[in-house]
Order: sequence, then C-alpha cells, then structure tokens
Amino acid sequence: MYQAPRGTSDIIPEEQAYRLYIEQKAADIARLYGYKRIDTPVFEDTELFLRGVGGATDIVQKEIYTFEDRGGNKLTLRPEGTAPVCRAYLEHGMQNLSQPVKLFYIEANYRYERPQAGRYREFRQFGYEAIGDSDPALDAEVIDMAWQFYVSLGINQLHLIINSIGCPNCRPQYLETLKAYYASQVQTLCNDCKTRMEKNPLRLLDCKNDSCRQLAAAAPRSYEKLCPECAEHFAKLKYFLNLLGLPYEIDHCLVRGLDYYTRTVFEIQPEIEGAQSTIGGGGRYDGLIEELGGKPTPALGFATGIERIAANLKRQNLPVPLIPGPIVFVAYLGETAREAAVKLCGELRKSGIAALQAPGGKSLKAQLRQANSAGVRYTVIIGEDEIKAGTVQLRDMTTSEQNNLPAGQLKELLGKK
Ligand code: AMP
Repeated sequence: MYQAPRGTSDIIPEEQAYRLYIEQKAADIARLYGYKRIDTPVFEDTELFLRGVGGATDIVQKEIYTFEDRGGNKLTLRPEGTAPVCRAYLEHGMQNLSQPVKLFYIEANYRYERPQAGRYREFRQFGYEAIGDSDPALDAEVIDMAWQFYVSLGINQLHLIINSIGCPNCRPQYLETLKAYYASQVQTLCNDCKTRMEKNPLRLLDCKNDSCRQLAAAAPRSYEKLCPECAEHFAKLKYFLNLLGLPYEIDHCLVRGLDYYTRTVFEIQPEIEGAQSTIGGGGRYDGLIEELGGKPTPALGFATGIERIAANLKRQNLPVPLIPGPIVFVAYLGETAREAAVKLCGELRKSGIAALQAPGGKSLKAQLRQANSAGVRYTVIIGEDEIKAGTVQLRDMTTSEQNNLPAGQLKELLGKK
C-alpha cells in the first residue's frame, strides 16, 4: 500500500472545514488592511532562494527540495513566500506603483524538515508583505494585522515578542561584541553553534540547546547597541504598538540571521510551551529587494502556518462553520422513475439547489439509509404513481414527515428552505 510521503498529509473532507475557515478569515483580514492577493509558482530558480533566503540559513543548507528539470534548469520547490513575492514585485514593475505595495498569499511551501507535531515537509502558510516604506507605523500595522487575524479566529492567550536587530550600519559592531562575549565560552556551545560563531553569529541567540540558551540569556542585546536611526525606529515602533493597544514583550534572543533582515523582528506565540509553539513570525527586510537586483527598497512581512492555527483552534475547542452539503436526496422506485429522478436532480442543481442522486440498483429502504447518512434535510421520492399524477413525495428527514405535492412546486419550496 502506498502512503503519503513522510511529512505530508491528505486533507480529507472532514478536515477541509478548518482550512476553508482559516483561509477565508485570512482573506477577510487582508482586505481589511488593504492587501491584494498574489500567487507565485510552486517552483522557482534555485538561485532566487540562495539569494533571497540566504545560503547560510538552515532552510537553504538543509531543507530545500531542489531538482534539475529535463531542460537542465536548477529549480527549487518554494520553501517560503517572501523571496518569490519580491521577485514578482520587481518582475512586474511594482516599484512604479504608489508605495507601499501590499500583497498577501495563501500557499503550500516545502521544507525537508524532521517531521513532528506542527512541523511538516509540506505545509500551508498565510503570509503578507508590505513593500516600499520604512515607516515604523507600517511595522506596527503589520504586527497589528497578524494579531487581529488571530483574534478574529478566537485564538487567545497569545504573546507578541519583538526585537530590533539593527541595520548594516550598527549590526557589525554588535556582532563583534556578541562574538567577543561567546569567544570565552566556546567549550560550552553545541556543535551547530560552533559553526554559527563563524558563519552566522546572530543565530547563536536562538539555539534551542539548553546550555546555549543559558548563554544567550546573558548575551549582549542588539536593541541596546542600535545606531541612532535604528534606535528611533524601534522607539517609534513601541510607541505605535502602545497606541494600538498591543501588549508586547522584548526578547533579545529573537533574531533573523541574514544581512538583509533589518530592524524589526517579531513572533507571536500561544501560551503552550514547546519548540513548535510559534504560530507566526515576521520582520523587516530592507536589504532584500536590492539583493534581488532592485533599487534599495524597505519592506517587511509576516507568515503564519495554517496547520498550526488549525491545531490551536482544536486545542481551544473552537468550532468552525461546517461546509454545507446537499440539502436534498432524490430517491426513486423503478426504471421510469429513475429517468425522472435524473432529470429532477439536474433541474434542482440548475436552480442552485444542491442535490444528491440516488445510486442505481438499491431498494427504497437502502436509498433512505443512504440519504440519512448523507445528512440531507429532505428526500424526494419518485415512483410510477407519482409520475402519473405529476407529483413527488417530499420527506423531511428530521421529522420523518412525508407529503405528496405537485412536482412543479418542489423547486420553489426547496429554494425557500
Ligand atoms: P517561517 O517562514 O519559518 O518564519 O515560519 C512562519 C510560520 O510558518 C511558523 O510560525 C509556523 O506557523 C509555520 N511553519 C513554518 N515551518 C513549518 C513547517 N515545517 N510545518 C508547519 N508549519 C510551519
């Protein structure tokens, strides 16, 4: 027997209600904040992610699905949404539109990760990017939108964590201070962190290893070493977050370890403890568009995992609206009635009434059982007598009440229901 590949799963009909509801709410919040939808290809040139996510990141080093197509092109399944959106921004000349350009996506992404609860190899993200503005009020708005999205879903007990990691002017100095702090403690670091010391020192701060965490807790703080411009940006961000009534905590261990990530980084975490607890995160990447060949363009964005949201809704026992199924089942007795049933089903659907056609060769009793398990509200029963009289039997499945009525009245009656 074949099984879905490790780290992937089927979204069977019973699970679809969660996905549909979350994605509908995502589209609603995006409209409320003026974001327009964009869809980018599932695969891109590998080079885009090497540049746009960064060769030193875990994603690029360990997690991308890369392949060569029959034409010898090196392609990669999209591991995240930001780089493709920035590529599209440049490709479609969106720098000529009024700025910031606000785009959102809902898409499947692919990372070769070690699968565990809340961490998959194929997962869906709702994300959005605001490109072309450095105003800290925009940072606050992006964070507010993420927060209000979770609020609209009923997810509670959330923590908003923020930090500022500075810019290419002030970060090098901070990194020197950070490396000097760690230099005397190299023996205590895990093997990964020993490599990070050289390649990506900021990432020393978000290592999950216990002893590394202790070191990180006492490490120098980037937000205390900002240049005056970044310090002002961070101060204004906090000011606007207060203005919007968003409760935040500052955590100097929250980082994004790439040069083009700048200033604001943030994460939203539910109350539960654990490595997979982060539900969404984002930040400013003022250097990315330039890295991809555009002119210097400030930007920021956010992404959140649909599966993790669904898990939180389930954990909180929050109900999601059911996807409505057909309201009527059309049963029949005999071959002539079968023709009438097929025709009736067609007419009902043309009038916008969702109808189920009884499968062939079943007794009336079996057809009614099937109608019951399909959860329809009504069953129409057609036999030879009804055809002769130009009527149908309409059975209310909840009360078992059955009435004979003129066939011509059926559409109108069901339409009203
Ligand atoms: P990132 O793009 O890594 O900043 O992740 C943003 C959000 O996407 C996370 O907070 C998760 O909710 C979700 N996410 C990231 N990676 C995965 C994954 N492998 N499986 C499921 N959800 C994920």
